[in-house]
Amino acid sequence: MNRGGGFSRFEVLLRPRDVFTIARGSRTTVPTMIVTYSRDGITGYGEASPISRYDETIGSVRTFFDTLEPGYPEDPTDIGSAMSRLDARIPGNNAAKAAVDIALHDWNGKRTGSPVWRSLGLDPTHCNRSSLTIGIDTPERVGRKVADAASFASLKIKMGVPEERDILRAVRNVSGQPLRVDANEGWKTREAALEAIRWLESEGGVELVEQPIPAGNLADVSWLRERVETPIFADEDFIRSADLGKLAGVYDGVNIKLMKTTGIMEAARAARRAKDLGLSVMLGCMIESSVGTSAAAQIAPLADFVDLDGSLLIENDPFAGRVGPDGSVRLGEEPGIGVSGELP
Ligand code: MG
Repeated sequence: MNRGGGFSRFEVLLRPRDVFTIARGSRTTVPTMIVTYSRDGITGYGEASPISRYDETIGSVRTFFDTLEPGYPEDPTDIGSAMSRLDARIPGNNAAKAAVDIALHDWNGKRTGSPVWRSLGLDPTHCNRSSLTIGIDTPERVGRKVADAASFASLKIKMGVPEERDILRAVRNVSGQPLRVDANEGWKTREAALEAIRWLESEGGVELVEQPIPAGNLADVSWLRERVETPIFADEDFIRSADLGKLAGVYDGVNIKLMKTTGIMEAARAARRAKDLGLSVMLGCMIESSVGTSAAAQIAPLADFVDLDGSLLIENDPFAGRVGPDGSVRLGEEPGIGVSGELP
Protein backbone atom coordinates (compact mmCIF):
# COMPACT_ATOMS: atom_id res chain seq x y z
CA MET A 1 0.00 0.00 0.00
CA ASN A 2 1.38 3.39 -0.98
CA ARG A 3 1.29 6.49 1.16
CA GLY A 4 -1.90 7.86 -0.41
CA GLY A 5 -3.96 4.69 -0.68
CA GLY A 6 -4.12 1.49 -2.58
CA PHE A 7 -5.75 -1.72 -3.67
CA SER A 8 -5.91 -5.01 -1.78
CA ARG A 9 -7.25 -8.30 -3.14
CA PHE A 10 -9.12 -11.16 -1.48
CA GLU A 11 -10.00 -14.42 -3.21
CA VAL A 12 -13.41 -15.85 -2.43
CA LEU A 13 -14.68 -19.24 -3.65
CA LEU A 14 -18.35 -18.78 -4.53
CA ARG A 15 -20.56 -21.86 -4.31
CA PRO A 16 -23.51 -22.01 -6.76
CA ARG A 17 -26.71 -23.34 -5.17
CA ASP A 18 -26.85 -25.91 -7.98
CA VAL A 19 -24.12 -27.09 -10.32
CA PHE A 20 -24.16 -24.33 -12.95
CA THR A 21 -24.25 -25.77 -16.47
CA ILE A 22 -24.40 -23.93 -19.79
CA ALA A 23 -23.66 -25.11 -23.34
CA ARG A 24 -19.89 -24.64 -22.76
CA GLY A 25 -19.65 -26.68 -19.54
CA SER A 26 -20.35 -26.97 -15.80
CA ARG A 27 -19.07 -25.25 -12.68
CA THR A 28 -19.42 -26.43 -9.08
CA THR A 29 -17.40 -23.56 -7.56
CA VAL A 30 -16.55 -20.14 -8.95
CA PRO A 31 -13.47 -18.24 -7.76
CA THR A 32 -13.94 -14.49 -7.59
CA MET A 33 -11.68 -11.64 -6.49
CA ILE A 34 -13.02 -9.04 -4.08
CA VAL A 35 -10.90 -5.90 -4.26
CA THR A 36 -10.74 -2.96 -1.89
CA TYR A 37 -9.45 0.54 -2.56
CA SER A 38 -8.63 2.42 0.67
CA ARG A 39 -7.60 6.03 1.05
CA ASP A 40 -8.35 8.84 3.51
CA GLY A 41 -10.09 6.41 5.87
CA ILE A 42 -12.61 5.35 3.20
CA THR A 43 -12.78 1.86 1.65
CA GLY A 44 -14.43 1.11 -1.67
CA TYR A 45 -15.27 -2.42 -2.84
CA GLY A 46 -14.82 -3.92 -6.28
CA GLU A 47 -15.00 -7.38 -7.79
CA ALA A 48 -13.44 -9.33 -10.65
CA SER A 49 -15.20 -12.52 -11.75
CA PRO A 50 -12.79 -13.71 -14.47
CA ILE A 51 -14.28 -14.93 -17.75
CA SER A 52 -12.62 -18.13 -19.01
CA ARG A 53 -14.17 -17.54 -22.45
CA TYR A 54 -11.71 -14.64 -22.77
CA ASP A 55 -8.77 -16.55 -21.21
CA GLU A 56 -9.08 -14.87 -17.81
CA THR A 57 -8.45 -16.88 -14.64
CA ILE A 58 -8.28 -16.06 -10.95
CA GLY A 59 -4.50 -16.34 -11.47
CA SER A 60 -4.49 -13.68 -14.19
CA VAL A 61 -6.51 -11.38 -11.92
CA ARG A 62 -4.03 -12.02 -9.09
CA THR A 63 -1.11 -11.17 -11.36
CA PHE A 64 -2.86 -8.01 -12.56
CA PHE A 65 -3.19 -6.64 -9.02
CA ASP A 66 0.26 -7.80 -7.94
CA THR A 67 1.82 -5.85 -10.80
CA LEU A 68 -0.34 -2.73 -10.51
CA GLU A 69 2.07 0.17 -10.12
CA PRO A 70 2.39 1.57 -6.57
CA GLY A 71 0.51 4.83 -6.14
CA TYR A 72 -1.98 4.08 -8.92
CA PRO A 73 -4.16 5.99 -9.49
CA GLU A 74 -2.63 9.33 -8.73
CA ASP A 75 -6.06 10.97 -8.61
CA PRO A 76 -8.78 8.46 -7.59
CA THR A 77 -11.49 11.07 -8.17
CA ASP A 78 -10.75 10.99 -11.92
CA ILE A 79 -11.97 7.51 -12.80
CA GLY A 80 -11.94 8.21 -16.54
CA SER A 81 -8.22 8.98 -16.57
CA ALA A 82 -7.47 6.08 -14.23
CA MET A 83 -9.20 3.63 -16.58
CA SER A 84 -7.69 5.11 -19.76
CA ARG A 85 -4.23 4.69 -18.31
CA LEU A 86 -4.92 1.04 -17.49
CA ASP A 87 -6.18 0.36 -21.02
CA ALA A 88 -3.13 2.05 -22.50
CA ARG A 89 -0.68 0.00 -20.45
CA ILE A 90 -2.30 -3.41 -19.98
CA PRO A 91 -4.15 -5.29 -22.75
CA GLY A 92 -7.24 -7.37 -21.95
CA ASN A 93 -7.80 -8.27 -18.27
CA ASN A 94 -11.29 -6.75 -18.50
CA ALA A 95 -12.66 -8.36 -15.34
CA ALA A 96 -9.65 -7.20 -13.31
CA LYS A 97 -10.07 -3.70 -14.74
CA ALA A 98 -13.75 -3.85 -13.80
CA ALA A 99 -12.74 -4.45 -10.17
CA VAL A 100 -10.64 -1.28 -10.28
CA ASP A 101 -13.47 0.75 -11.82
CA ILE A 102 -16.06 -0.58 -9.35
CA ALA A 103 -13.85 0.01 -6.30
CA LEU A 104 -13.11 3.58 -7.41
CA HIS A 105 -16.80 4.29 -8.02
CA ASP A 106 -17.66 2.90 -4.58
CA TRP A 107 -14.85 4.88 -2.92
CA ASN A 108 -15.91 8.12 -4.62
CA GLY A 109 -19.55 7.55 -3.76
CA LYS A 110 -18.73 6.98 -0.11
CA ARG A 111 -16.45 10.04 -0.15
CA THR A 112 -19.21 12.31 -1.46
CA GLY A 113 -22.18 10.50 0.14
CA SER A 114 -23.72 9.86 -3.28
CA PRO A 115 -24.96 6.67 -4.92
CA VAL A 116 -23.27 5.90 -8.23
CA TRP A 117 -26.55 6.15 -10.18
CA ARG A 118 -26.79 9.82 -9.20
CA SER A 119 -23.24 10.66 -10.20
CA LEU A 120 -24.11 9.19 -13.63
CA GLY A 121 -27.23 11.36 -13.91
CA LEU A 122 -29.67 8.43 -13.92
CA ASP A 123 -33.28 8.24 -12.72
CA PRO A 124 -33.60 5.22 -10.39
CA THR A 125 -37.39 5.12 -10.24
CA HIS A 126 -37.95 2.83 -13.21
CA CYS A 127 -35.72 -0.21 -13.11
CA ASN A 128 -36.79 -3.43 -14.76
CA ARG A 129 -36.61 -6.54 -12.59
CA SER A 130 -33.91 -9.14 -13.09
CA SER A 131 -34.66 -12.49 -14.59
CA LEU A 132 -33.43 -15.66 -12.86
CA THR A 133 -31.23 -18.04 -14.84
CA ILE A 134 -32.16 -21.71 -14.99
CA GLY A 135 -29.03 -23.70 -15.86
CA ILE A 136 -29.01 -26.87 -17.93
CA ASP A 137 -30.14 -29.85 -15.85
CA THR A 138 -32.40 -32.89 -15.86
CA PRO A 139 -36.06 -32.10 -16.60
CA GLU A 140 -36.95 -33.04 -13.00
CA ARG A 141 -34.42 -30.63 -11.51
CA VAL A 142 -35.31 -27.90 -14.00
CA GLY A 143 -38.95 -28.26 -12.95
CA ARG A 144 -38.01 -27.92 -9.28
CA LYS A 145 -35.84 -24.84 -9.93
CA VAL A 146 -38.59 -23.17 -11.93
CA ALA A 147 -41.16 -23.90 -9.22
CA ASP A 148 -38.81 -22.21 -6.72
CA ALA A 149 -38.54 -19.17 -9.02
CA ALA A 150 -42.24 -18.27 -9.05
CA SER A 151 -41.56 -14.81 -7.57
CA PHE A 152 -39.47 -13.75 -10.59
CA ALA A 153 -40.99 -11.71 -13.43
CA SER A 154 -39.05 -13.66 -16.06
CA LEU A 155 -36.61 -16.54 -16.45
CA LYS A 156 -33.49 -17.04 -18.55
CA ILE A 157 -33.32 -20.60 -19.86
CA LYS A 158 -29.96 -22.00 -20.93
CA MET A 159 -30.17 -24.04 -24.12
CA GLY A 160 -27.82 -25.01 -26.95
CA VAL A 161 -27.56 -28.69 -25.93
CA PRO A 162 -29.19 -31.84 -27.38
CA GLU A 163 -31.71 -32.18 -24.53
CA GLU A 164 -32.88 -28.56 -24.87
CA ARG A 165 -36.47 -29.29 -25.89
CA ASP A 166 -37.00 -31.52 -22.85
CA ILE A 167 -35.67 -28.67 -20.71
CA LEU A 168 -38.03 -26.12 -22.21
CA ARG A 169 -41.00 -28.45 -21.85
CA ALA A 170 -40.07 -29.02 -18.20
CA VAL A 171 -40.10 -25.24 -17.71
CA ARG A 172 -43.45 -24.86 -19.43
CA ASN A 173 -44.99 -27.67 -17.37
CA VAL A 174 -44.47 -25.54 -14.27
CA SER A 175 -44.51 -21.91 -15.42
CA GLY A 176 -46.04 -19.38 -17.79
CA GLN A 177 -43.40 -16.75 -17.02
CA PRO A 178 -41.85 -14.87 -19.97
CA LEU A 179 -38.66 -16.62 -21.05
CA ARG A 180 -35.33 -15.45 -22.41
CA VAL A 181 -33.36 -18.23 -24.08
CA ASP A 182 -29.54 -18.23 -24.03
CA ALA A 183 -27.84 -20.70 -26.39
CA ASN A 184 -24.31 -19.59 -25.41
CA GLU A 185 -23.08 -20.24 -29.01
CA GLY A 186 -24.44 -23.79 -28.72
CA TRP A 187 -26.29 -23.96 -32.05
CA LYS A 188 -23.35 -24.64 -34.32
CA THR A 189 -24.86 -23.60 -37.66
CA ARG A 190 -27.34 -20.95 -38.77
CA GLU A 191 -29.66 -23.71 -39.96
CA ALA A 192 -29.62 -25.40 -36.55
CA ALA A 193 -30.34 -22.05 -34.91
CA LEU A 194 -33.20 -21.39 -37.34
CA GLU A 195 -34.79 -24.73 -36.56
CA ALA A 196 -34.43 -24.20 -32.82
CA ILE A 197 -35.83 -20.65 -32.84
CA ARG A 198 -38.76 -21.60 -35.07
CA TRP A 199 -39.58 -24.37 -32.61
CA LEU A 200 -39.38 -21.85 -29.73
CA GLU A 201 -41.71 -19.55 -31.65
CA SER A 202 -44.21 -22.40 -32.05
CA GLU A 203 -44.06 -22.96 -28.28
CA GLY A 204 -44.56 -19.23 -27.57
CA GLY A 205 -43.60 -16.94 -24.70
CA VAL A 206 -39.94 -16.35 -25.59
CA GLU A 207 -38.98 -12.66 -25.39
CA LEU A 208 -35.53 -12.96 -26.95
CA VAL A 209 -32.75 -15.34 -27.87
CA GLU A 210 -29.17 -14.68 -26.79
CA GLN A 211 -26.06 -15.61 -28.80
CA PRO A 212 -27.58 -18.39 -30.93
CA ILE A 213 -24.44 -19.24 -32.93
CA PRO A 214 -20.68 -18.98 -32.31
CA ALA A 215 -19.41 -15.40 -32.08
CA GLY A 216 -17.79 -13.89 -35.16
CA ASN A 217 -20.40 -15.03 -37.69
CA LEU A 218 -22.32 -11.80 -38.21
CA ALA A 219 -23.42 -12.59 -41.78
CA ASP A 220 -25.07 -15.74 -40.43
CA VAL A 221 -26.79 -13.75 -37.69
CA SER A 222 -28.19 -11.40 -40.35
CA TRP A 223 -29.39 -14.42 -42.35
CA LEU A 224 -31.05 -15.82 -39.24
CA ARG A 225 -32.62 -12.55 -38.19
CA GLU A 226 -34.35 -12.20 -41.58
CA ARG A 227 -36.09 -15.51 -40.97
CA VAL A 228 -37.34 -15.27 -37.37
CA GLU A 229 -39.56 -12.93 -35.37
CA THR A 230 -37.80 -13.32 -32.02
CA PRO A 231 -35.30 -10.55 -31.16
CA ILE A 232 -31.69 -11.79 -31.16
CA PHE A 233 -29.16 -10.44 -28.67
CA ALA A 234 -25.36 -10.59 -28.76
CA ASP A 235 -23.49 -11.71 -25.66
CA GLU A 236 -20.27 -13.49 -26.64
CA ASP A 237 -20.19 -11.25 -29.77
CA PHE A 238 -20.15 -8.08 -27.64
CA ILE A 239 -17.30 -7.15 -25.31
CA ARG A 240 -17.11 -3.37 -25.13
CA SER A 241 -18.36 -0.27 -26.88
CA ALA A 242 -15.92 -0.46 -29.79
CA ASP A 243 -17.86 -3.57 -30.93
CA LEU A 244 -21.20 -1.80 -31.20
CA GLY A 245 -20.70 -0.33 -34.69
CA LYS A 246 -20.42 -3.74 -36.34
CA LEU A 247 -23.32 -5.21 -34.34
CA ALA A 248 -25.83 -2.44 -35.13
CA GLY A 249 -28.25 -3.58 -37.82
CA VAL A 250 -27.18 -7.20 -37.32
CA TYR A 251 -28.44 -7.93 -33.80
CA ASP A 252 -31.51 -6.52 -32.07
CA GLY A 253 -29.67 -5.94 -28.80
CA VAL A 254 -26.54 -6.54 -26.75
CA ASN A 255 -25.86 -8.07 -23.34
CA ILE A 256 -23.63 -5.60 -21.49
CA LYS A 257 -21.69 -6.99 -18.51
CA LEU A 258 -19.30 -5.05 -16.31
CA MET A 259 -16.80 -7.92 -16.39
CA LYS A 260 -16.58 -7.54 -20.18
CA THR A 261 -16.67 -3.75 -20.49
CA THR A 262 -14.04 -3.07 -17.75
CA GLY A 263 -16.58 -1.69 -15.33
CA ILE A 264 -19.37 0.79 -14.73
CA MET A 265 -18.06 3.76 -16.71
CA GLU A 266 -17.56 1.86 -19.96
CA ALA A 267 -20.78 -0.12 -19.47
CA ALA A 268 -22.81 3.09 -19.14
CA ARG A 269 -21.05 4.49 -22.22
CA ALA A 270 -21.83 1.29 -24.16
CA ALA A 271 -25.49 1.30 -23.06
CA ARG A 272 -26.00 4.86 -24.22
CA ARG A 273 -24.18 4.30 -27.51
CA ALA A 274 -26.12 1.07 -28.13
CA LYS A 275 -29.41 2.92 -27.82
CA ASP A 276 -28.18 5.64 -30.19
CA LEU A 277 -27.46 2.87 -32.70
CA GLY A 278 -30.92 1.31 -32.31
CA LEU A 279 -29.77 -1.66 -30.22
CA SER A 280 -31.73 -2.75 -27.15
CA VAL A 281 -29.76 -3.13 -23.94
CA MET A 282 -29.64 -6.11 -21.64
CA LEU A 283 -27.59 -5.66 -18.48
CA GLY A 284 -26.04 -8.98 -17.48
CA CYS A 285 -23.48 -10.46 -15.13
CA MET A 286 -21.34 -13.50 -14.41
CA ILE A 287 -21.58 -15.71 -11.30
CA GLU A 288 -20.45 -13.03 -8.85
CA SER A 289 -21.16 -11.64 -5.39
CA SER A 290 -23.44 -8.72 -4.57
CA VAL A 291 -20.48 -6.40 -5.09
CA GLY A 292 -20.53 -7.06 -8.83
CA THR A 293 -24.29 -7.18 -9.25
CA SER A 294 -24.86 -4.06 -7.11
CA ALA A 295 -22.31 -2.18 -9.20
CA ALA A 296 -24.16 -3.19 -12.37
CA ALA A 297 -27.51 -2.35 -10.77
CA GLN A 298 -26.40 1.29 -10.58
CA ILE A 299 -26.89 1.55 -14.35
CA ALA A 300 -30.10 -0.54 -14.49
CA PRO A 301 -32.07 2.61 -15.47
CA LEU A 302 -30.30 2.34 -18.86
CA ALA A 303 -31.37 -1.29 -19.44
CA ASP A 304 -34.37 -2.62 -21.34
CA PHE A 305 -33.73 -6.08 -19.87
CA VAL A 306 -32.03 -6.80 -16.55
CA ASP A 307 -30.25 -10.09 -15.83
CA LEU A 308 -28.38 -9.44 -12.60
CA ASP A 309 -28.93 -12.73 -10.83
CA GLY A 310 -25.27 -13.74 -10.28
CA SER A 311 -25.43 -13.18 -6.55
CA LEU A 312 -28.81 -14.95 -6.30
CA LEU A 313 -27.36 -18.14 -7.80
CA ILE A 314 -24.79 -18.63 -5.02
CA GLU A 315 -25.25 -19.84 -1.44
CA ASN A 316 -22.33 -17.98 0.18
CA ASP A 317 -22.62 -14.34 -0.91
CA PRO A 318 -20.55 -12.41 1.66
CA PHE A 319 -22.44 -9.21 0.86
CA ALA A 320 -25.97 -7.87 0.51
CA GLY A 321 -26.79 -5.26 -2.06
CA ARG A 322 -29.11 -3.81 -4.63
CA VAL A 323 -30.75 -6.90 -6.16
CA GLY A 324 -33.55 -8.38 -4.10
CA PRO A 325 -34.37 -12.09 -3.76
CA ASP A 326 -37.18 -11.70 -6.33
CA GLY A 327 -34.95 -9.90 -8.83
CA SER A 328 -36.13 -6.39 -7.95
CA VAL A 329 -33.49 -3.69 -8.38
CA ARG A 330 -33.51 -1.46 -5.30
CA LEU A 331 -31.68 1.81 -5.90
CA GLY A 332 -31.85 4.19 -2.96
CA GLU A 333 -29.61 6.63 -1.16
CA GLU A 334 -26.95 4.09 -0.16
CA PRO A 335 -23.63 5.70 -1.18
CA GLY A 336 -21.35 4.18 -3.79
CA ILE A 337 -22.48 0.81 -5.13
CA GLY A 338 -24.65 0.27 -2.05
CA VAL A 339 -23.33 -2.97 -0.59
CA SER A 340 -23.01 -4.04 3.02
CA GLY A 341 -21.22 -7.04 4.45
CA GLU A 342 -17.77 -8.28 5.28
CA LEU A 343 -15.10 -10.37 3.67
CA PRO A 344 -15.20 -13.95 4.95
MG1 MG B 1 -25.28 -15.10 -22.27
